[in-house]
Amino acid sequence: MTKPVVIGTPHSEHALRVLLLGSGELGKEVAIELQRFGVEVIAADRYADAPAMQVAHRCHVLDMLEGAAIRALIELEKPHLVVPEIEAIHTETLVELEREFAQAGTATRIVPTARAARLTMDREGIRRLAAETLGLPTSPYRFVDTREDYHQAVRALGLPCVVKPVMSSSGKGQSLVRSDADIDAAWDYAQTGGRAGAGRVIVEGFVDFDYEITLLTVRHAAGTAFCPPVGHLQRDGDYRESWQPQPMSAQALAGACAIAKAVTDDLGGWGLFGVELFVKGDEVWFSEVSPRPHDTGLVTLISQELSQFALHARAILGLPIPADEAGWIDLIGPSASCAVLAQGHGVPVFGAVDAALRAPRTALRLFGKPRVEGQRRVAVTLARGEDAEQARALAREAASALVVELR
Ligand code: AMP
Repeated sequence: MTKPVVIGTPHSEHALRVLLLGSGELGKEVAIELQRFGVEVIAADRYADAPAMQVAHRCHVLDMLEGAAIRALIELEKPHLVVPEIEAIHTETLVELEREFAQAGTATRIVPTARAARLTMDREGIRRLAAETLGLPTSPYRFVDTREDYHQAVRALGLPCVVKPVMSSSGKGQSLVRSDADIDAAWDYAQTGGRAGAGRVIVEGFVDFDYEITLLTVRHAAGTAFCPPVGHLQRDGDYRESWQPQPMSAQALAGACAIAKAVTDDLGGWGLFGVELFVKGDEVWFSEVSPRPHDTGLVTLISQELSQFALHARAILGLPIPADEAGWIDLIGPSASCAVLAQGHGVPVFGAVDAALRAPRTALRLFGKPRVEGQRRVAVTLARGEDAEQARALAREAASALVVELR
């Protein structure tokens, strides 16, 4: 038996306080779900007016790569739950704090665990865990620090191969090397595109997959549950469209669930994870995992009664997750999401919002990002259809009807 869950009232001494480290569009939806349970939500990020801050009780602006700043914030706010929403956090500090809390008998928990946040902060920790410790199938890979070792790795793995800074996301610094002519440019790009500037790079053998999925996996008080597989399309290492369900053979689906269960059990804790997998026929490869809601899982805002954000909120609070006997969470119907990107400099202004919502069973989220410098995702359109293909077409139409200006 687990302990009964008690939730007090925000702004009182009985409040249940949750601190979000990262306040983007995914954190905003988590904040909204927590607000619905009367949780006191504190949002943090490195810039003011971030999306989740706009729906939180309080907010803080700090550099989350600075350990001392994170420690000071947690000491100030004394949250019951610390929920990392992004990878770029000084996760060593979370590991230290988790240990100190356990020793002191403090009720504060890091979601899902500090170790999960640390291992997934860069590509190396999680890749070595999955491939070397857990023995899961992954692309062949090498980590390299110098141009010379890089050349050797490319020769060993063969072409095509994929080159990524270990500390990067959304495709920054990532290239596909198809021919000899691309080799040096990919190294140079990786050295400029990482979160921490120049540094270690992973070179991966190219997996010629039929399709890729995110298996949204929920570890909760009563076990593990799965959302029907989310298929997605990536361009330049960044997600553009996702749909649900992605049809899969029974064997591939069983393989995907087994990999997701092995990885998430090892990372531990309660919460929703996005397990990224490549699939070819019945064969499945592990790629990455986010110990938190995943951008491709935005589709669940329209496809499921409980979105990935609602599931995350329930799981971290220790609340029940409705699933069938095999652990599957219910789908309302085939659905899709389409990312809306803005390019340039300025404040997003959305025109023709009415046109984007004209079709029935269509929805959207405008994230409320205060500014765009370069390329950023500023909104997502959502649609349900007769099948995933029709839903994708509707979501794309809604996205192209929306007019995004930067002023
Ligand atoms: P990542 O940032 O590692 O999730 O990579 C972004 C996207 O690049 C993936 O979702 C795939 O579409 C593609 N990709 C990454 N690694 C590989 C690989 N080893 N083989 C084939 N495609 C890859």
